[in-house]
Amino acid sequence: MYEFAYHRPNSIRKASSLSADGDAKFLAGGQTLLPTMKQRLAAPDALIDLAGIEALQGIEMKGRTLHVGAMSRHADVASSAVVREAIPALAALAGGIGDPHVRSMGTIGGSVANNDPAADYPAACLGLGATIVTNKRRISADDFFTDMFETALEEGEIITKVLFPVPRRAAYAKFDNPASRYALVGVFVSKRGRDVRVAVTGAGPCVFRVAAMEEALSNRFATKSLDGVSVDAGDLNSDIHASAEYRAHLIGVMARRAVAAA
Ligand SMILES: Cc1cc2nc3c(=O)[nH]c(=O)nc-3n(C[C@H](O)[C@H](O)[C@H](O)COP(=O)(O)OP(=O)(O)OC[C@H]3O[C@@H](n4cnc5c(N)ncnc54)[C@H](O)[C@@H]3O)c2cc1C
Repeated sequence: MYEFAYHRPNSIRKASSLSADGDAKFLAGGQTLLPTMKQRLAAPDALIDLAGIEALQGIEMKGRTLHVGAMSRHADVASSAVVREAIPALAALAGGIGDPHVRSMGTIGGSVANNDPAADYPAACLGLGATIVTNKRRISADDFFTDMFETALEEGEIITKVLFPVPRRAAYAKFDNPASRYALVGVFVSKRGRDVRVAVTGAGPCVFRVAAMEEALSNRFATKSLDGVSVDAGDLNSDIHASAEYRAHLIGVMARRAVAAA
């Protein structure tokens, strides 16, 4: 490590004004940011720890919408009675992230802001049609995840909470890397009224929806409807873990598992 200033503000306003000075970074669970700093891939002048800000905490239902504070740890979401009751698929997804250490420290805000191409929460946000709320505006998940490790967030913008409309059915199926538990391919499926969403993580540079699967499932929400629907391997990731063709195949398998579970 090297020298940097450490701030622990107790309000969003203070955190926001601190971020205007030099090259500062918000610190949530530190599960990505600290290893990145240790490897010298990031060298901020200052860390602004969000852990002391009450307004970023809390999980509650408001009408038919689940509100999850940005500093909710994965373990909080996994064990929350409110989440389990409203969207059990979201609690199960949080419980399948990394290992107990990562789940005790990592936060939904950090995961969503980081937008790792193999992370689980982006699939839940896109697959449930979530809204990401910041200190400046509301951004629909469809507009939020823009590219690999890139989002619609502007410099100094803070995610305050994520709003999830409660679906009638939903499930997430992940084929994980056994070492890290990151998704080789993860598919989140939901149905709310006539709206069906199928969101895929791990397979491409950024989380994406599969329109052909959504159309097939909105006619009839059953695994059979996915027969003959495939995803082109052309735009998918190919690396030491899996070829693009294998990932394309896994999308079909995980989508069927998610539909069956939902
Ligand atoms: C060993 C290991 C295994 C993992 N396995 C998985 C897995 O299986 N699935 C998975 O999805 N993830 C996995 N992760 C990632 C982990 O879940 C964390 O969610 C992720 O590292 C980021 O969350 P964090 O709270 O630690 O954020 P930090 O590391 O603190 O921050 C990450 C980035 O987000 C920014 N940021 C944080 N909070 C906010 C906010 N409220 N507003 C704006 N910007 C913000 C920070 O400035 C930083 O740029 C794994 C991580 C590790 C180390």
